[in-house]
Amino acid sequence: MSDPVILDGKRVRDEILAELRPRVDSLRSHERPPGLAVVLVGHNPASEIYVRNKVKACQDLGITSEKVTPAESVTTRELLEVVTSLNNRPDIDGILVQMPLPPQVDAKRILVAVAPRKDVDGFHPCNVGAMVSGNPGPRPCTPAGIMELLRRYKIDVAGKKAVVVGRSDIVGKPMAMLLLHAHATVTICHSKTADLAGECRQADILVAAIGKAGLIRGDFIRPGATVIDVGMNRLGSREEVEALFPGDAARMADFEKKGSILLGDVHPSEVGHAGAFTPVPGGVGPLTIAILMANTVAAAERHFGMPS
Ligand code: NDP
Repeated sequence: MSDPVILDGKRVRDEILAELRPRVDSLRSHERPPGLAVVLVGHNPASEIYVRNKVKACQDLGITSEKVTPAESVTTRELLEVVTSLNNRPDIDGILVQMPLPPQVDAKRILVAVAPRKDVDGFHPCNVGAMVSGNPGPRPCTPAGIMELLRRYKIDVAGKKAVVVGRSDIVGKPMAMLLLHAHATVTICHSKTADLAGECRQADILVAAIGKAGLIRGDFIRPGATVIDVGMNRLGSREEVEALFPGDAARMADFEKKGSILLGDVHPSEVGHAGAFTPVPGGVGPLTIAILMANTVAAAERHFGMPS
């Protein structure tokens, strides 16, 4: 059997961004640059990195970005006021509220408060409805990015059996819906699924969006399947590394050097018989930001009545 194809998310990201560039230039020369507001509450280190990457992507593309940083102690009411004022700003096309929010904030109320036309995450119930019914609108960034990856690598979806592990509103559910719209036969698995390995083994396309390092083992993967690994898990203890990679000196040395290692939901040493797979890092992660940029550009084009 030949080696699996490594699905390069950075390459696809760069293609998507290159295609957006002339659209951004056209908006800049005819109207104004697209504008994205990112709301980052408090000082969650992971959120700060995600937001930094999003702001940098905007800068590189010529999108104006604005970071709004309410204190960790912000109340639901105060945050609603922040969102309302951004809704009313004509220079802002997209609003992204970085999750997670502190426990005292009602996250559902905040997400619903974002004007649907400015919801570049595709999380507002109006946009979720548009996605389910196949109407136009922003699609959630990570699943939409995965669909782009499959399309650009010419991986057939129609008529294939797709298994999505995870049923979150952000990844699992919209992923299943987009695969269904692309005519896959879709199974959604979760923590109560009776025979996870057996379900996964049926998959021509297996999407893991779980948040558990290396949970998907080699015997979950049908030979030749396409494996999409959404998981981003940081292993911070020697015991965790040893449990997943017993006797793997190179992996342990990497851990000792960095103090932690980043791992997907798929065991990286056990995908050799897949037909294609996304690495972690460098697979799904870069696509999420590219689609965020695409959704922001599309929101600006809609604002000015320009065709997307
Ligand atoms: P959630 O925690 O919201 O959802 C996890 C899902 O996995 C749940 O539906 C849960 O089931 C299911 N699950 C948990 N344990 C098991 C198990 N043992 N067997 C089967 N199913 C299980 O996570 P997200 O969807 O937000 O994220 C998933 C992963 O993707 C995370 O690692 C996250 O960091 C990463 N991520 C990466 C992105 C990227 O750009 N690369 C973007 C977004 C997320 P149940 O519903 O029954 O609890």
